[in-house]
Amino acid sequence: MQDDLTEMTDIAAVCAAIGIDALGVVKATPLQSYDIYREIIARGVPPQLEYLARNADCRRDFDAILPGTKSIVCCACTLPVFRAETACRYARFCAFGDYHLMMREKLLKLDAYLRANYPIQNSRICVDSAPVLERELAVHAGLGDIGFNRMLIHHDFGSFIALAELFVDADLTECADPPAYHVRREATEAWIPGHHGCCDPAHRRCSSACPTGALSDHGYDMNKCLAYWTTQHKGDIPEPYATAMGEMIWGCDRCQNACPRNLNAPRPCVATSTLDTLAFDEILSLSARQLRKRLANSPLADANPHMLVRNTCIAIGNARVSKYSEQLGTIAATHTCDWVRRAAERALTMTGECS
Ligand code: SF4
Ligand code: SF4
Repeated sequence: MQDDLTEMTDIAAVCAAIGIDALGVVKATPLQSYDIYREIIARGVPPQLEYLARNADCRRDFDAILPGTKSIVCCACTLPVFRAETACRYARFCAFGDYHLMMREKLLKLDAYLRANYPIQNSRICVDSAPVLERELAVHAGLGDIGFNRMLIHHDFGSFIALAELFVDADLTECADPPAYHVRREATEAWIPGHHGCCDPAHRRCSSACPTGALSDHGYDMNKCLAYWTTQHKGDIPEPYATAMGEMIWGCDRCQNACPRNLNAPRPCVATSTLDTLAFDEILSLSARQLRKRLANSPLADANPHMLVRNTCIAIGNARVSKYSEQLGTIAATHTCDWVRRAAERALTMTGECS
């Protein structure tokens, strides 16, 4: 396939063949959101997010990622949706298979095409693999603007997109024909969250839909966000957040589901996922090792099994489903992790199986 791609001349055809929905290029110049990032880190981040503070200078110095970086190719791919019959409820990014592997494969093909058609000697693919302020890069590359919900919102595809970058040692912005696909140049302030393109400030639907108050005029508070509590936090989930999870067992998405700018996005494809058949009772009965094996090659391949069992217990409690009482009882009595045991006890209490 790569041989065919390198002979193509139309970037739209190349992107379509690879499965990239939008692509733009930005010159490697300092980013404005670096200072905001430093302020957030200085205010303190939860222990499980301390990795955000590591290699801080890489977010400002592109040479730390690829020496001689002259421009960055930003790519976006729309996320599929789960099949309606999927047993459990997850945030939509989980429908994308092994996201890191899939995006890397796409960018490897893109890299081969660009090297054959542009004066690139060195390049590096980033799919969450290096500290990059990717949303501001994406804005400057013309892929969209930042919504009040802090998501990158593409003008056609909305915010349910995955981003990845290709750092290259050639300034593609100065080429006669810079690669571009589904891009639209926005005002330079578009990287400021909610700067424009958002709904009436009096009726911000993302903020209204957020069950925890994580989105407010004071900004985005990751300490209140269910995406943090369910996918990053190892420990007890405090009661207001546990209740707010509803039946979601990984992530949240409510602020994106409520956003009117997602309503006009093209109908997404429906994914077939290894998660489709993963049911509550299987999560409750498998050992940590078995769960890891079961989730291999899925978006939850790196998920902490204890966190998944904890979240499942909470979701069962929230749904007041009593048929899992035997498994919950076993977990409450024997699980090696104390916060998983407490989540099972909570579920038993909520389902009336324990007083
Ligand atoms: S819901 Fe409204 S305010 Fe929130 S990101 Fe979407 S358009 Fe912007
Ligand atoms: S992911 Fe959920 S908890 Fe986090 S900001 Fe969005 S709606 Fe609020």
